[in-house]
Amino acid sequence: PNAIEVSALDKWYGNFHVLKNIALSVAAGERIVVCGPSGSGKSTLIRCINRLEEHQQGRISVNGIALNDSVKNLDAIRREVGMVFQHFNLFPHLTVKENCALPQILSRGKRRREAEEMAMHFLGKVRIPEQADKYPGQLSGGQQQRVAIARALCMTPKVMLFDEPTSALDPEMVKEVLDTMVTLAEEGMTMIVVTHEMGFARKVADRVVFMEAGQVIEVNEPQAFFDAP
Ligand code: ADP
Ligand code: ADP
Repeated sequence: PNAIEVSALDKWYGNFHVLKNIALSVAAGERIVVCGPSGSGKSTLIRCINRLEEHQQGRISVNGIALNDSVKNLDAIRREVGMVFQHFNLFPHLTVKENCALPQILSRGKRRREAEEMAMHFLGKVRIPEQADKYPGQLSGGQQQRVAIARALCMTPKVMLFDEPTSALDPEMVKEVLDTMVTLAEEGMTMIVVTHEMGFARKVADRVVFMEAGQVIEVNEPQAFFDAP
């Protein structure tokens, strides 16, 4: 099965038709960048894919698991999909290492020691192992976002969703986060990235999805996309 399969997806917030007949297939190992104006539904689309939002019509499946009302499936989806938000969503009163370890303990039932070993492994991968015993507030925004990436990777997802991961960062910190994401892409991670960083799209995306007013307006290879008249 495809890593992600979205077909005939419609979603409303009350009377507001936020997603209109969306179709999107993402193969394993594919990197998709989603762009488009603010309010076009990009964030809502990826929040539907990991069930942070419910849709009203259409089908979404992740690695062949259909998103429906079953709690068991919801658990299964959360195992497949990691998510990184614009505002890092770290726990301020836990250290960096604890932030990465706690979700593994709570939702996977891992022992603390095993969870912390995993945390240190991925903090190494995002190149901030030396920050492990600090609190999020002691880190730069770029470092905090790399912790959020490590925390998601600790759950060994098969797909990573990024919702504007660099747009809350000071400009000088954007590159370190994008570099981390490029490395992840080069390692073959399946990714959907909502971003305005077109340099990243050009470098990493297999396809760019352009949304406007709740619809997918265009899907293309980045080259075709950026060279268009
Ligand atoms: P984007 O990520 O492209 O900026 P969003 O998916 O965040 O767009 O939002 C799409 C539209 O849906 C916007 O008009 C936004 O105000 C609206 N919206 C988002 N979340 C909600 C919500 N929980 N309730 C009502 N409207 C919402
Ligand atoms: P982000 O930029 O991080 O996606 P937003 O500012 O778009 O965050 O939205 C923050 C929260 O507010 C989200 O949970 C979103 O669903 C909700 N939200 C956004 N727009 C609206 C809206 N028009 N009405 C109600 N809730 C909204």
